[in-house]
Amino acid sequence: QYILAIETSCDETAVAVVKNETELITNVVASQIESHKRFGGVVPEIASRHHIEQMTLTLQQALDDSGMTIDDMDAIAVTEGPGLVGALLVGVNAAKSIAFAKQKPLVGVHHIAGHIYANRLEKEFQFPLLALVVSGGHTELVLMREHGSFEIIGETRDDAAGEAYDKVARTLKLPYPGGPHIDRLAHEGEETIEFPRAWLEDGSYDFSFSGLKSAVINRLHKAKQRGEELKAEDVAASFQASVVDVLSTKALRAAEEYGVKQMIVAGGVAANKGLRKALEEKFQNSEAELLIPPLHLCTDNAAMIAAAGAVAFNQGHRSGWDLNANPGLDLERYGARKTGSPS
Ligand code: ATP
Ligand code: MG
Ligand code: FE
Repeated sequence: QYILAIETSCDETAVAVVKNETELITNVVASQIESHKRFGGVVPEIASRHHIEQMTLTLQQALDDSGMTIDDMDAIAVTEGPGLVGALLVGVNAAKSIAFAKQKPLVGVHHIAGHIYANRLEKEFQFPLLALVVSGGHTELVLMREHGSFEIIGETRDDAAGEAYDKVARTLKLPYPGGPHIDRLAHEGEETIEFPRAWLEDGSYDFSFSGLKSAVINRLHKAKQRGEELKAEDVAASFQASVVDVLSTKALRAAEEYGVKQMIVAGGVAANKGLRKALEEKFQNSEAELLIPPLHLCTDNAAMIAAAGAVAFNQGHRSGWDLNANPGLDLERYGARKTGSPS
């Protein structure tokens, strides 16, 4: 069984083919980062225009790479949300056109379900499992008791982890996206500043990063006023220590409370070296097996959409010809709408 998937929710135009749910055949990602850099973030209209320009070329490359045609595919999967509406529309319309022309089943996929299922291209899932989703727009702990079922046990109350990285990076005048730059600097610096850790109420699995972000900005401001020399490396190391401490501590506590078999890490911030190391240390003596995808499967790609789409397809989910982009698509509700009739 072959699934062709399209992902255009943000700033990468991506097409992939996955065989039998877990075997990656091809994974093509056309990134627009260079075009958004000078604006310090993703400009939605520019993203949409890039997607429309790159969509067919990316599809062509994915088919060339795999030596296959659309006729060989069993279904067409596409990210229907969440994401930027104008960006999503390009992928949704491309997927619908292909599916309609070739009369193939169409499967709408939740972007975060995709980030989670990226891990299954590396290793089979064992339930119950917990996924720590840390991306540009999301930070949440998701409990999965079976395929395609998602229960959010904790989430950010303000900024996402990736968003905090990008905002702090901007204050340090680092290029967009800032996450990888802070990560690099953090390894050259030391934790000389004690930034707050938002543990929230006892037992809560929610997160909060806006206070930390403000603390970093205030500290830099104060240093400037005093003419004090603060090393960017140390600021990065101190900021990263706070983020990583909270994420890894809550992940371990949740894994033990829910007695999960696996702890899965998903989303762009899963590429963070500090987070990977902290989780590896924390989970060394845990019953739960830690899974972290390779870097190319952490950030946005279509292989993950194919992996999640294949499962949804095999569970009976089909989207109708009225499939639309849904920028606010809810993960739990997406998981609940299993079989049969069109979305
Ligand atoms: P979402 O998936 O929530 O819709 P998104 O698709 O924009 O958002 P991703 O592509 O999953 O997010 O991840 C991008 C984010 O990951 C950016 O905020 C980026 O700074 C961050 N990121 C990437 N690499 C690293 C790293 N090494 N350390 C920290 N953050 C990183
Ligand atoms: Mg991205
Ligand atoms: Fe993403």
